[in-house]
Amino acid sequence: LPNRRYFMSQLDRALRELHARRRQRLGIILIEIDRFTLINDTLGHTAGDDLLLQAAQRFAGVLEATEHLLARWGEDQCVALLYDVDPAAELRTLAAALHAARQEPFALRRHRVRIATRIGFTCIERGLRRPEEAVREADVALTVARRQPGTATVEYTPDLGGAAASLVNLEADLHLALERGEFALLFQPIFDLGAGRVAGVEALLRWRHPLEGILTPQRFLSIAEEAGTIVPITRWVIQQVCRLIGDWRSSLPRDADFFVSVNLSAAALRDPGLWDYVRRVLEAARVPPGYLKFELAERGLIENVSGARTVLAAFRNMGIELMLDDFGTGYSSLSYLQLLPFDYVKIDRPFANRAGSERANNAITAAVLQMTSSLGLRAVAEVVETEAAARSLAQLGCHLAQGFYFSAPLEAADALQLLRRSPTPATIVAAAPAAAEAPRAVSVADETQILEETPTMVLPETPTVVLEAMIDPEG
Ligand code: C2E
Ligand code: CA
Ligand code: CA
Repeated sequence: LPNRRYFMSQLDRALRELHARRRQRLGIILIEIDRFTLINDTLGHTAGDDLLLQAAQRFAGVLEATEHLLARWGEDQCVALLYDVDPAAELRTLAAALHAARQEPFALRRHRVRIATRIGFTCIERGLRRPEEAVREADVALTVARRQPGTATVEYTPDLGGAAASLVNLEADLHLALERGEFALLFQPIFDLGAGRVAGVEALLRWRHPLEGILTPQRFLSIAEEAGTIVPITRWVIQQVCRLIGDWRSSLPRDADFFVSVNLSAAALRDPGLWDYVRRVLEAARVPPGYLKFELAERGLIENVSGARTVLAAFRNMGIELMLDDFGTGYSSLSYLQLLPFDYVKIDRPFANRAGSERANNAITAAVLQMTSSLGLRAVAEVVETEAAARSLAQLGCHLAQGFYFSAPLEAADALQLLRRSPTPATIVAAAPAAAEAPRAVSVADETQILEETPTMVLPETPTVVLEAMIDPEG
């Protein structure tokens, strides 16, 4: 496929022709393959490229009868320029045909993969526009389609502009966000179920966007990863956390034992200077490495296990413990536990969200905990939302737990308060029935509201389920 540059030059030409009335109308259709990164992550980049190629061939087939130019737009996007189409109705028909073209499963390696697509389009009839403006219209429509689950096609109309405008600029804004000091961290306590005290906290990133308000990582992390801004952002988080640990250490009793865990994207591991940066920042803040832990999700590690192993082993040797994040949501392959030097496994939502009886859930969780401990790892249950779950976990001997039941993410000062009160005699789960009140009494950042209002942001669809739905074994 031609690339973006070529497409833009042809679009520029077509727009001039339109202005000179040598053309009647232009259509721009932006097609996005949903969850393309998941396919890349699970089947590899070659499979991803192959998929895009096959999809493009089908799209070209659909557009055959119309004068058009099809090009690759982004990693998971194609764009089509249509010359002299009939009014918008035809673009809608074409969009429907493009959706229909991807319905047959694609053959990738030995898998049959089904994909979903999303389309934003615009119809341009008059006026002189710059090509960027014209594409932006299709992009705004696509953004709106992305925001409305269940809507596969959106046509651009001027009133869409306002709703989607700021979102479309997130990438540009990200570059300035660090300079402008718009990032902030919240800290979610992690409880030691046996000892009934706060063992540590997880640092969670927020972006106080000037127009959009407080954004959670789901909204901007993948953009930051693609745009490369993830590297300076990760460094910023690590620096903030190390400074904070230093402050907390001087403010807490001398023997206070706690940790702060930092989430590392796989993309951040590709920063060749990361190890040295961490070492320097710890030194500057006079913080022993044992106070810091890193959390990594298996998702991104799959692609480059050997590269990840080298960096992770170096951190491990420095004395920074590692947690495997989101266990139970992806492939949950035991091989990563063996290949990479993890100390903890974070089990995502141990009791919720699984079909099946309570007894079956209990049995599964018990088995996962058993396995974790046989491998010499410690378990952290996360997204624990109910007292029943917390109790069962304590009974099953789960070491650490985290979730809204215990506490939402807190501002640093509130998290420090909790650490100060620890160890508390009021064992949170293991013993006292009334103790459930304790963590709720902590003043919780307005964050809670945001998370509860839009639970989809924190409850992403379980990839396992998606994969099962997407990949039919051959035959
Ligand atoms: P995660 O590492 O799995 O973090 C836990 C997420 O679950 C957090 O969402 C937290 O607010 C939410 N959560 C905790 N307890 C509960 C609960 O009981 N119920 C529900 N529904 N949600 C709960 P958050 O802060 O939006 O972060 C989302 C993800 O973004 C994190 O998932 C993590 O993967 C990533 N992330 C956060 N901060 C950073 C960071 O500094 N760097 C990187 N690379 N990723 C980060
Ligand atoms: Ca995490
Ligand atoms: Ca997690």
